[in-house]
Amino acid sequence: MSRVYNFSAGPAVLPEEVLREAAAEMLDYNGTGMSVMEMSHRSKPFEEIIQTAEKDLRDLMNIPDNYKVLFLQGGGWTQFSAVPMNLMKNGVADYIITGSWAKNAWKEAKKYGTANAIASSEDENFTYIPDCSDLPIDENADYVYICQNNTIYGTAFKTLPNTKGKDLVADVSSCFLSEPVDVTKYGVIWGGVQKNIGPAGVTIVIIREDLIRDDVNPATPTLLKYKTQADKDSLFNTPPCYGIYICGKVFKWLKKMGGLSAMKELNERKAKVLYDFLDSSEMFHGTVRKEDRSLMNVPFVTGDKDLDAAFIKAASEAGFVNLKGHRSVGGMRASIYNAMPEEGVCKLVEFMKKFEAEHK
Ligand SMILES: *Cc1c(COP(=O)(O)O)cnc(C)c1O
Repeated sequence: MSRVYNFSAGPAVLPEEVLREAAAEMLDYNGTGMSVMEMSHRSKPFEEIIQTAEKDLRDLMNIPDNYKVLFLQGGGWTQFSAVPMNLMKNGVADYIITGSWAKNAWKEAKKYGTANAIASSEDENFTYIPDCSDLPIDENADYVYICQNNTIYGTAFKTLPNTKGKDLVADVSSCFLSEPVDVTKYGVIWGGVQKNIGPAGVTIVIIREDLIRDDVNPATPTLLKYKTQADKDSLFNTPPCYGIYICGKVFKWLKKMGGLSAMKELNERKAKVLYDFLDSSEMFHGTVRKEDRSLMNVPFVTGDKDLDAAFIKAASEAGFVNLKGHRSVGGMRASIYNAMPEEGVCKLVEFMKKFEAEHK
């Protein structure tokens, strides 16, 4: 068996320790004689799994009691609809367009009400985060929406927008648990876990209780209504049981690593190794405005498509895989999520140096 350094944007690398534990428990979870995959979601052992997962997530993020944690299915795209269907009370919302995911969310919201694009960085292919200190927030807006870390373009909000008192809704799919957050600054924090937490299939929604309403858009499907799942502690119907179990293990791992402050330190150190090299290299260049750089997704280019392709191929042969950039940016992208070891980033940079020297 040999593991590679996997720089995939998602589904992405998981902590090896978590995978080993899951493997050891595969046939017989905790003396039950069965796998977590084979277990009723109403059983005692699973109840304990989901409750412990929620408790550990609450500890990690310091989630206040007036916020509900929901473990859902459906991924990012489902939340693009669920958010407006549940939260558009006045039928108005403001969107900040910092990339494809924010734009898709905005387009979806337009089906349910007035969704204003109040800022955008599309003019420069989303290579920066617009100034959000004084935006034209609609006075009837039910919420202001952001994608906090732009997976494809490699930008991140370093300060949250001034929402002028409106509730902030954030898609944190690709920066979930990468650093401490002040949950009270948000109405809703949601993310698909397949980027920075666990396996595809689980979507976590953290929502302030007063935003969980019964009088939502009447066309809202039962399962997309937050109240349905909130009232049943995410067990209205069958949840993504195995995925939740793995997420729970990742939460334990994060606690053992020292929690989110320690992860932030580690993530900053990892990103610095790569960005410092990009800033000094003559061959490789970052594509994003420096002050808006993501700690999680690092796009870079050589400026020559053939050289990019040669690099990706050589890197892959050397065990650094999934470095191909998204088609809308081109070049390369290294996703260096929580579970990417520091050693993986250092070795990648060594490899890039060697490649540069050999291709001068
Ligand atoms: C991947 C991603 C999505 C889309 O998630 P799906 O689960 O594939 O629908 C949405 N937002 C962000 C920030 C993402 O990285």
